[in-house]
Amino acid sequence: VTDDLPVVVINAHGLPYQNAKLPVRKRVADLLSRMTLDEKIGQMTQAERGALETQDDIAGYELGSLLSGGGSNPAPNTPEAWADMVDGFQLRAQQTRLQIPLIYGVDAVHGHNNVVGATIFPHNTGLGAARDPRLVEDAAHATAKEVRATGVPWNFSPCLCVSRDERWGRAYEAFSEDPALVTRLATAVEGYQGAADGSDLKDADRVLATAKHYVGDGGTEFGSAATGTYTIDQGITRTTRKELEAVHIRPFEEAVDLGVGTVMPSFSSVDFLDDEAGPVKMHAHADLITKVLKGKLGFDGFVISDWQAIDQIPGDYASDVRTSINAGLDMIMVPYDYKTFVTTLREQADSGAVPLSRIDDAVSRILTKKFQLGLFEKPYADRTHLESVGSAEHRKLAREAAADSQVLLKNDGDLLPLKGDEKLYVAGSNADDLGNQAGGWTITWQGTSGDITEGTTILEGIRQAAPDASVTFSADASEPTGGHETGIVVVGETPYAEGVGDVGNGHDLQLSEADRKAIDTVCGAMDCAVLIVSGRPQIITDQLGDIDALVASWLPGSEGTGVADTLFGERPFTGRLPVSWPRSAEQVPVNVGDEEYAPLYPYGWGLRTDGARDRLADVRAELRESRDVASRATAALLGLALNRHHWKADGTARHAGVTLTVLGQAARLLEKSRGDSYVQADELVSVARDLAQNALLKAGGDAPERALARTADADRALASGQYAKAVKYLAEAHRLASRR
Ligand code: BGC
Repeated sequence: VTDDLPVVVINAHGLPYQNAKLPVRKRVADLLSRMTLDEKIGQMTQAERGALETQDDIAGYELGSLLSGGGSNPAPNTPEAWADMVDGFQLRAQQTRLQIPLIYGVDAVHGHNNVVGATIFPHNTGLGAARDPRLVEDAAHATAKEVRATGVPWNFSPCLCVSRDERWGRAYEAFSEDPALVTRLATAVEGYQGAADGSDLKDADRVLATAKHYVGDGGTEFGSAATGTYTIDQGITRTTRKELEAVHIRPFEEAVDLGVGTVMPSFSSVDFLDDEAGPVKMHAHADLITKVLKGKLGFDGFVISDWQAIDQIPGDYASDVRTSINAGLDMIMVPYDYKTFVTTLREQADSGAVPLSRIDDAVSRILTKKFQLGLFEKPYADRTHLESVGSAEHRKLAREAAADSQVLLKNDGDLLPLKGDEKLYVAGSNADDLGNQAGGWTITWQGTSGDITEGTTILEGIRQAAPDASVTFSADASEPTGGHETGIVVVGETPYAEGVGDVGNGHDLQLSEADRKAIDTVCGAMDCAVLIVSGRPQIITDQLGDIDALVASWLPGSEGTGVADTLFGERPFTGRLPVSWPRSAEQVPVNVGDEEYAPLYPYGWGLRTDGARDRLADVRAELRESRDVASRATAALLGLALNRHHWKADGTARHAGVTLTVLGQAARLLEKSRGDSYVQADELVSVARDLAQNALLKAGGDAPERALARTADADRALASGQYAKAVKYLAEAHRLASRR
């Protein structure tokens, strides 16, 4: 720590709460009994570090927490400087009477994304496409390691929103539009925190997680394009109680079961259609926060408000403070005028409007997490893992994540994977732009185009993956082509965070003119693959005819090499749509399960470039090794499916119907056997999907809508673990497609 900081005076030592051998519960009770009301109020206050008038205020106001918010600038830009900064703040907290450590929080929503050089993972929508709970957990664990190494013990992530409208500027923060898939990927909580009982939190590679935004943030109404008022971000979710539970609360239930330490309410309001109350701001929603979250779901961590969100509660500031804390909020992200907050809460407490019992409950919850994190024993950065920030190991994981998140939507003539010795013509605004492929929440809140951190662009990835290819690059496709090349056009969005992004300027989910032109030029002249690098689907219907291969690349992060890996067959395409891909802007919102469901590509769509038969054989081999009877029986069934001589290597079984029936039976067995077999069951269904998709592709470009819709139903069944049902739907899709 730097020289100009004051020397710490040890004010408190030898007291029971400082005894790490005592149970956390006892330490909390002891500490609480020693605290003044002002000290308690301080614990409930979170200020933005840039808003501190002087660092002396940390001790002066006994602040419990600081954050680096999205708009916090200028941020230090090396990992060491981050650790020094946080330690500097912590040192001030150590100058208080009871030496209660600060808890510092950041939004590391896809890697330690505030820090230049950190590993940047795909945004959640891409991880939703990869559909791998283990991958999500590993990415979160790697992120936790990088974050904690810089002295930060708390991450405002994961976002467990279920995004029901792609025009929302946070759509990419959602794993999916399907609650079952979001729920399944709540494993991020485990990756950040480790064990559900909080016993790993003190480790140097774990951080406290935040499930956000509770609840209904992804279900808000869009607003009006006519008036230019987009209420979708921070707006109103109108729904029934039953639907709110089934769609939006479900992932939070899972997060609570996984022991999530903190929950952040949503800026939005909930308007129950089954009562007369009208819209209520989530930050004032006593019923959903205290009764449902803390009561029914049994959440025992603390509730942290969103950024200045209590100010949006109707009424004056005193009423905002009173209402939110009485509704069950434990810590308020003020973030600017912390002094007014502290005085106001003091007045409310003195008058009895905020009961002292509520304050004690809030402070106990906060202190419990601070003790579990081991902050009293080790308040300063444990720099053990500082070298993991942007390490080769983490980049390798991010590269795999980027590859596995690629969704192959169309692949005429099996253009992909490329061989690597072609003449390639690469074009498009997002081919060579690290900032664009990282998206929002990268280095700055909104993100920016360009060379903003360390990593490889997709173009660089292509050059590395195909050293034998001759590559011409022209972002706007203005360079003349040499003829007979293969085109790769990488188009998409520029970064944004929150709000609606580019929507509204007549651009609703539309590519820019320049990108559209690049597609026309390249795809009109040669075989071409188009990659869409974006936080959400872009409307591509009218150009689809010219495009041979189409890939949804999402926001893959710092490792463009991962995208290139799939293009050149280093890793197969296995990703599947986490959201429905709309035909037109007018069709939005479109979600799986809608009564009229006819998107361009349904939820769960995604062609695979690895052999279905080989995968099936792998699953069989694994199951044969199993000790459990159901798994071995499944292996025998799969033997049947594999031995049918009408099975063709490309997965286009002539009698795929029969194979699908066998797969259905196999899946039913696995479903019953529970245990660890869901991975195999997943594979089985994905083979079944290949068969059904092949039939659909053969049925012609305009695959029958009902058949497409069945594949989406299958996917939903799959996400909730109903494997046999999933295969049944796929068999039906196959039947509908082959009938034509
Ligand atoms: C966002 C939260 C974020 C917070 C702190 C808010 O604007 O809604 O998701 O955690 O800022 O940066």
